[in-house]
Amino acid sequence: MKALHVLGNGKVEIDEFPMPELKENQVLVKVVASGVCGSEMGSIRGEKPMDMNSGHEVSGIVADPNGHAQWEEGDRVGVFTLQGCGKCRWCRMGQDTFCAEVGVPSSTHAEYCSSKANSLVKLPDDVSAPLATLLCADGLGVPYGASSRAEVEPGDITCIFGAGPVGLGMALVQAYMGANVIVVEPSKPRRDLAMKMGAWQTVDPTQVDDMVSLLQTMTDGWGPDKCFECSGRQDTLDIALTATRPEGLIVMVGHGPQTMDPQRLIIKKNMRMMGNWVAHPAWYKHMLQWYREGLDVERLITAQYPFEDAQKAYDEMLAATCGKIMLMWD
Ligand SMILES: [Zn+2]
Ligand SMILES: [Zn+2]
Repeated sequence: MKALHVLGNGKVEIDEFPMPELKENQVLVKVVASGVCGSEMGSIRGEKPMDMNSGHEVSGIVADPNGHAQWEEGDRVGVFTLQGCGKCRWCRMGQDTFCAEVGVPSSTHAEYCSSKANSLVKLPDDVSAPLATLLCADGLGVPYGASSRAEVEPGDITCIFGAGPVGLGMALVQAYMGANVIVVEPSKPRRDLAMKMGAWQTVDPTQVDDMVSLLQTMTDGWGPDKCFECSGRQDTLDIALTATRPEGLIVMVGHGPQTMDPQRLIIKKNMRMMGNWVAHPAWYKHMLQWYREGLDVERLITAQYPFEDAQKAYDEMLAATCGKIMLMWD
């Protein structure tokens, strides 16, 4: 089969690879839409080629049910990113994220991928393949999970640091939830996209000397109610810790080598802090409901490229000009 081969130094190419070998508990999926994720950029920028690729956001068509009676060849399916054992307490609650045996589908920027048979959902007619990829994986799952677990409310002032695909998804979801969303992002195209997602205001951090003062001025001296750190940077975490109002909430989403001083910044401000890692399969039905009630999920997708043009997608990601990009495998 054809699959994307990550060469490193910003380059990818399409190469021939062997078909995925199916384990007993897996089915074979013919990929239709695979989403490009910010979490892939470490290996894209890295110097070493990968064995294949780290695609993990996918929807497609069952190509081989491998004896699993609940699936038929040709079923349209969304594939959950984190796939647990299906039996433990976490899995029974649809929270495979914490399963001791959690795994992921095989490299999904490919003609075919393998997936655990119990980690698929049959797609209704009103859910397209690119939409399914957002609803089943971390593309919408992280913004949805972090924002709903943070109990964003109408009238909240939220501040999102970093407007990659995840930060843009946060802006979309939180505007839908009724918050006034501030987005801090150095890339002009991504600030413009944040406004399209429904942000209230955007800030270019490269033009601001004192970000804490600015955020306080923008919030009548109060500070944002809830801050979402989506860039994994130390300076944005420090700003979030200092600017968020007392008894406010900070949600950590970006991965980076960060440290903090809990004594001064957390204890003395009665602050709450929480994390969010990937997405629970159980959230799919809530996200689908919000989509049907009017959350314009597809606005997050700024480009769909045929897989032959995958390099364009990674060039856009490296230039920080895009939202979510889908690679389409026909
Ligand atoms: Zn992802
Ligand atoms: Zn489990």
